[in-house]
Amino acid sequence: MSNQQNGITPRYNPLESMQKRFDEAVKILGLDEQFANVLRVPNKVVAANIPVTMDDGTIKVFEAYRVVHSSHLGPSKGGIRYSMDVNLDEVKALAAWMTWKCAVVNVPYGGAKGGIKCNPREMSKGELERLTRGYTLAMRNVFGPDQDIPAPDMGTSAQEMAWIVDEYSKIVGQNAWAVVTGKPLILGGSLGRVEATGRGVMVSTRSAMVKLGMKPTETTCVVQGFGNVGSISAKLIAQLGVKIVGISDVTGGYYNPDGINVNEALSYVANSPLRSLDGFKGGKNISNAELLELPCDVLVPAAMEDQITPENADRIKAKLIVEGANGPTTADADAILNKKGIMVVPDILANAGGVTVSYFEWVQNRLGYYWTEERVNRRADRVMKQSFDNVFAASEKYGVNMRIAAYLVSIDKVASTLKLRGSF
Ligand code: GLU
Repeated sequence: MSNQQNGITPRYNPLESMQKRFDEAVKILGLDEQFANVLRVPNKVVAANIPVTMDDGTIKVFEAYRVVHSSHLGPSKGGIRYSMDVNLDEVKALAAWMTWKCAVVNVPYGGAKGGIKCNPREMSKGELERLTRGYTLAMRNVFGPDQDIPAPDMGTSAQEMAWIVDEYSKIVGQNAWAVVTGKPLILGGSLGRVEATGRGVMVSTRSAMVKLGMKPTETTCVVQGFGNVGSISAKLIAQLGVKIVGISDVTGGYYNPDGINVNEALSYVANSPLRSLDGFKGGKNISNAELLELPCDVLVPAAMEDQITPENADRIKAKLIVEGANGPTTADADAILNKKGIMVVPDILANAGGVTVSYFEWVQNRLGYYWTEERVNRRADRVMKQSFDNVFAASEKYGVNMRIAAYLVSIDKVASTLKLRGSF
């Protein structure tokens, strides 16, 4: 699935994809080039090499980054990714997408992202802990509850966040819950945070289906990726009455035109030794590439970047694409999907439920007062629905697709703040 596996140079560059859409939106907004130039690139890039003692006693060095794209709207926010595909341009793109994402959902944060080039599946718990603590130490001057707030992303979970809180708290000499979100519940996490991204994908899908006049019980859906985002999106979209006909993970795709039992797939993964769909019998085995081209009404790419490209965009049959992953569609594929009349709910809107509840977690940490799950979900659903409606209104006002509309809404907001703050 990855374009960079085995050290092969990636064929698509997410940073270029981000900047192409950015340039298009800037032109429509008529934004002064001087301001655009500030927002086109990250504000700060920190790179570190982290030495870690491995279980066999050898010392390995890991390449690590934290990129702060913008802190104009508030402290920068964004996850940390552990993957062999991590590279600086990818982290830069993901950081910028966090800026636009927070602005689209009106969360008072800027954007950042972190990444460590490693294979977490091949590392022991102890090795991962030492790596995470080393990374926190290296980034101690970047992180901070009012400065830069990490969260989980691909390859990381609540456990890594717990280590970060612990290490950072030791550095500053007090419990600093609000330095990171996506924490375990007993360490200041928020109810609803684990499900938040998938839940937001479901709310976005539901809003888009209403606009397109699609009835849930007459709709089929394919979800690519069965990690936190994909699996929960599939489960909640199925609960709307939609038939999930295809799912996938790194082990391949699974297709069943009569419908896949998502709960069965979830418990299969939970009980499988490698936490994967390998050997799942609820659907016919297909490749991840075939999965994207299946006959269906809704496609939810929730795996990783650069999955829908000029090479396969023309063969996509869905009428609606809801981007659970960050950057699953390359900029050059946008035009093809547009021409085919496919509605795309872009990543910076569709998967913003996660950072929205991260914001709620940070608010709860600072208040020392914790909300019920019902309150978290109700508020997050409202944010997601309102944001969808705002972007849809912008797409009608400017006569552009949902992606460019989302960039217009967010760039306009960040650029206005930048102009007001001045300080050049
Ligand atoms: N990694 C998630 C994202 O890409 C969540 C970020 C956060 O909560 O800060 O949106």
